[in-house]
Amino acid sequence: MIFTHDTVAALGFMAALADTVPEASASGEDELETQAQLAALLDQWIYTGRRDGDARELDEVRAARDRLRHLWLLPRDEAVDEVNAILAEANALPRLVNHDDLGWHIHAVSFDSPLAQRILVEAAMSFVDVIRADGLDRLRECDADDCTGLFVDVSKNGSRRFCSTRCGNRMAVRAYRARANEEGAQPGQPASTRSITRASAASTVRR
Ligand SMILES: [Zn+2]
Ligand SMILES: [Zn+2]
Repeated sequence: MIFTHDTVAALGFMAALADTVPEASASGEDELETQAQLAALLDQWIYTGRRDGDARELDEVRAARDRLRHLWLLPRDEAVDEVNAILAEANALPRLVNHDDLGWHIHAVSFDSPLAQRILVEAAMSFVDVIRADGLDRLRECDADDCTGLFVDVSKNGSRRFCSTRCGNRMAVRAYRARANEEGAQPGQPASTRSITRASAASTVRR
């Protein structure tokens, strides 16, 4: 594994939060507009600690979402500054904890801190791990031209290009149709498995 288990989990949550924006979500809508949507996201990721469930908390988490989307794609040196800024603002104090059978992992703010602050600090701590492992190139934006989804590539060869199979399949179909048009073949045929494989094999690292 490239990163530790808690870093992978934190990055996964970070990407899921980031991908609630309309440009990246499955529905094409903002999927973090209501307190109920926030609660559902937290439940899905078994996010522990304080939850106020009020409008202010939702606003703060939405602001954290913007900040983390920005952090995700920063060049390394700028990411370092932003990570250090987040940790300093929160007076982060790293300590090892073990709760809910999650195994030993790091918390740098208390369970009682506001949700958005805990989300930001947890993300910053995962970036500490990623940057030390020189792994920022594994944090990517979807290659689909109509999607800004963020994802972590934990594959062995680092060849993942799309945020989801939804985007991978859509782009494979589009590439197939473009080729079919060029070759004068019948457009509109479904993409063969081979075209999907070929599309995902032509991988590039974005950073
Ligand atoms: Zn924890
Ligand atoms: Zn995508």
